[in-house]
Amino acid sequence: MSSLRTRLAPSPTGHLHLGHVLHIMYVQGIAANLGADIVLRIEDHDQSRCRPEFEASICEDLAWLGVTAPKGLWRQSHRDDVYRKHLEDLMRRHLIYACSCSRKDVQSSIGQHSGELTYPGTCRGRPIPLNQEETCLRLVIPDESFSLVDCMKGPISQNPAHQCGDVVVRDRLKQWTYQFAVVIDDLDQGINLIIRGEDLLSSTGRQLAMRKLIKPDAPVPIFVHHPLIANPAGQKLSKRILSESLKSYSRTSLGADELRGFVANLAGLTPDASPIKLDRLPELFRGIGEKTST
Ligand SMILES: [Zn+2]
Repeated sequence: MSSLRTRLAPSPTGHLHLGHVLHIMYVQGIAANLGADIVLRIEDHDQSRCRPEFEASICEDLAWLGVTAPKGLWRQSHRDDVYRKHLEDLMRRHLIYACSCSRKDVQSSIGQHSGELTYPGTCRGRPIPLNQEETCLRLVIPDESFSLVDCMKGPISQNPAHQCGDVVVRDRLKQWTYQFAVVIDDLDQGINLIIRGEDLLSSTGRQLAMRKLIKPDAPVPIFVHHPLIANPAGQKLSKRILSESLKSYSRTSLGADELRGFVANLAGLTPDASPIKLDRLPELFRGIGEKTST
């Protein structure tokens, strides 16, 4: 088995909640089964929403849940120069242009007013200076389908040019976007096992497209998109339950094992809410990704 590396990438824009606990359990269990290292990455690219107190709280909760990241901690806010270097490289290759369209402009040009909008490329040929105020920067996405076999979802195929169009890499406030920062971080950190919630499934194709443009010879990572916590009718749990901060559990008599048991049961992974010790996680997620990684 080649050396696998995955990441846990919390964003310090709030406290961890039960949805995060489920995600952390998947990462710990699958990484243990596959012998993968875990890298801890603080996704603080959006400085307007990040707070040091959230980061401190997240680190405390991660330690409480037994997260150890032997490959250390990375921080997006320290990587501005790296993102800039990649942007300049893409600019030299004429793959970046400035876009002055608002969401409303895009809505009216494609006649769609809700859901994900496919940017129609309106500004691609416009001579807008790259550093003009009130504009974002977009990366030209080729018309190409990206296919892979997700370890939990099976075969998926997405054509990001039709799904979202040219991707924003730097927003109107001159901040790097999540998609751009994450793709570069995954490449630089050698992440070859991406474990994340199924709500992010739709962004897989665009990340693969960006990855190919930024580093054409990079191999495609193994993907695991896991289910989210849902009620028996399959609906996502209410925001109120999900957003309950871990602090409200860790400060009561509920221990980390009890919380894992509670969350596993909520997610339908176990028939009851019996406590789950850290060393039982591999057993809970046995089989996921094992064929792909050997
Ligand atoms: Zn535009």
